[in-house]
Amino acid sequence: MSENATDRREYDVVVIGGGPAGLTAGLYTTRLGHATAVVERGGGRAAMMRDVHNLVGVPAETSGNEFLATGREQLESYGCDVVRDFVSSAVETDDGRFRVCGNDADYLADCLVVATGFDDVRPAPPLPRTGRGLHYCLHCDAYMFVDEPVYVMGASESAAHVAAIMLNFTGDVDLLTRGEDPDWSDETAAMLERHPIDVVTPEITGVRNGDDGWLEALEFDDGTIREYRGGFAMYGSNYHNELAAELGCERNDDGTVAVDDHGRTSVDGVFAVGDVTPGHNQVPVALGEGAKAGIAIHWALREFPREVEEPETAETVRDEEVPGIPDELLEQAIATHTYDD
Ligand SMILES: Cc1cc2nc3c(=O)[nH]c(=O)nc-3n(C[C@H](O)[C@H](O)[C@H](O)COP(=O)(O)OP(=O)(O)OC[C@H]3O[C@@H](n4cnc5c(N)ncnc54)[C@H](O)[C@@H]3O)c2cc1C
Repeated sequence: MSENATDRREYDVVVIGGGPAGLTAGLYTTRLGHATAVVERGGGRAAMMRDVHNLVGVPAETSGNEFLATGREQLESYGCDVVRDFVSSAVETDDGRFRVCGNDADYLADCLVVATGFDDVRPAPPLPRTGRGLHYCLHCDAYMFVDEPVYVMGASESAAHVAAIMLNFTGDVDLLTRGEDPDWSDETAAMLERHPIDVVTPEITGVRNGDDGWLEALEFDDGTIREYRGGFAMYGSNYHNELAAELGCERNDDGTVAVDDHGRTSVDGVFAVGDVTPGHNQVPVALGEGAKAGIAIHWALREFPREVEEPETAETVRDEEVPGIPDELLEQAIATHTYDD
């Protein structure tokens, strides 16, 4: 929203991004007694999951969108505002708070969480359907291709290494460079030569899918057709780090936002979690990072115990000042107590 924004909403914590990392940070800060909003524009990598893998307690048939919808409902049930809005700017104010500008409103907060993730760079079409032959996450989906014919698409160092890693799962791996000059080192070229990987250079011209929508084969401009069950595209990541950069947060060379073990960035009061930070790009990792940041924010914001630097003059906490949880969240918490009902 602009300078003249009329809709200004105040919170203790604003989380930018409603994927697994941001929702978890918001769940923790809300349940730990801090008025919280999660502002998210929709989409994100979790929303792209057709099935969810590696998430204990969540059946694989659950889609990313179902998983996220359940998460949003959970947060709202505890009194968190989950808002659909695109954040175009985030700045520190003169009084040390943070102003987040969305299309529909401005949001003021004492602490910010940047959970904006990244986009996988999508190769040019023709391509198999995402999640039905085109995949981006080896740790999520390699298991689906055990003993199946697979491709790895790309001409980079990481594409070559992912092709070799896929040999742990199947004996039938092609590396598709699609007419690009390989960008890998001589050492990697030697590694490829010593492993049973076909480097296929022609461009893809067509995709053959089965009735179930799953990939069956790719057609190439030299007239060949190769059968595949699926594969991985390795063209890098576009990190959504613009807001962190505007806030002055330090970034790493690869574009991730630099954080400590609890998601604290180089700017006091600003945290970053999930795929926009270094580490494994996995839902359980994002959940863990969101949890740790949520707890660290609670440490930073909680009212009690008050610091007692000079015991003789320190004021005693009055009965009416406790509990420290804001009235709205207090009522919500009491309403959600179930005990033996
Ligand atoms: C196809 C696919 C399948 C996958 N399968 C699995 C799997 O089975 N198991 C697994 O563990 N991992 C899987 N992953 C990885 C997993 O999705 C990510 O690691 C995880 O979603 C990261 O969570 P995140 O919250 O950091 O980011 P995201 O899920 O990407 O969420 C980012 C959020 O930021 C918001 N956002 C960004 N910019 C703005 C802005 N300016 N204003 C407002 N909101 C903004 C978006 O709306 C979104 O809500 C898969 C990834 C892909 C692409």
